[in-house]
Amino acid sequence: MLFESVIFGPIKSRRLGISLGVNLLPATAKVCSFNCIYCECGFNFTDPKAHLPSLKELETQLEQTLERMVADNKKLDSITFAGNGEPTMHPQFAAIIDATIRLRNRYYPQTKISVLSNATMLHRPAVVAALNKVDNNILKLDSVIDATVKLINQPVNPKFDITKIIEQQRQFNGNLIVQSLFLKGTYRGQTIDNTTEKEVSAWLNAIDYIRPKLVEIYSLDRIPPISTLQKVDSAVLQQIADRVEKLGISTSVIQ
Ligand code: SF4
Repeated sequence: MLFESVIFGPIKSRRLGISLGVNLLPATAKVCSFNCIYCECGFNFTDPKAHLPSLKELETQLEQTLERMVADNKKLDSITFAGNGEPTMHPQFAAIIDATIRLRNRYYPQTKISVLSNATMLHRPAVVAALNKVDNNILKLDSVIDATVKLINQPVNPKFDITKIIEQQRQFNGNLIVQSLFLKGTYRGQTIDNTTEKEVSAWLNAIDYIRPKLVEIYSLDRIPPISTLQKVDSAVLQQIADRVEKLGISTSVIQ
């Protein structure tokens, strides 16, 4: 499933309420620094005609949409950067966040700005500065065991190092929400299960080190691109959440 426009929705989100989506990736390709086996957009693929939306396109389309929604007296809880891949890969991401904050303040001052990111661009200071300005800086951390990350998230960069991501998430000094998806199944003949004791205890150590303001725990919702993956029971998710709470960190299980 691809989003075919820069602005999409609003949709009712499990986590964010009434959410207006922003897709900073091409409408005709899936572009991400990860290639998660559960991604709702499917696996990465290119298209020769694919192009990134410009800052101007984003500003024009977002302003037109917000203007129309205000005129129609519509409620809006979140302007959410998600879409066909990783939003922070856009070279003008920082300027786009500044423009979005300006428009939000003008049309919907109570609405949150949320970014769903896989945290792979945190080596760019401009990305970190921009994420520090949004209300919901939501960063992925599905596992802290290298082999599992490579299996579940399939980072595109062969030098990807999960320990660097953990350090970079910690540098937000709590101004982040960690989102973690738990799943089971098989992929290419290998067993996948990031709910084992080895996985969860290593992940909890990293959560304790990062100290986010919130941890969001969830499992598969829509149909993933491969059929050998299974949803994790909500009771198991709740047990993991209880262990996070014991660290003194707020936790939410997304059903
Ligand atoms: S990081 Fe997000 S967009 Fe990228 S492959 Fe994973 S789920 Fe899909």
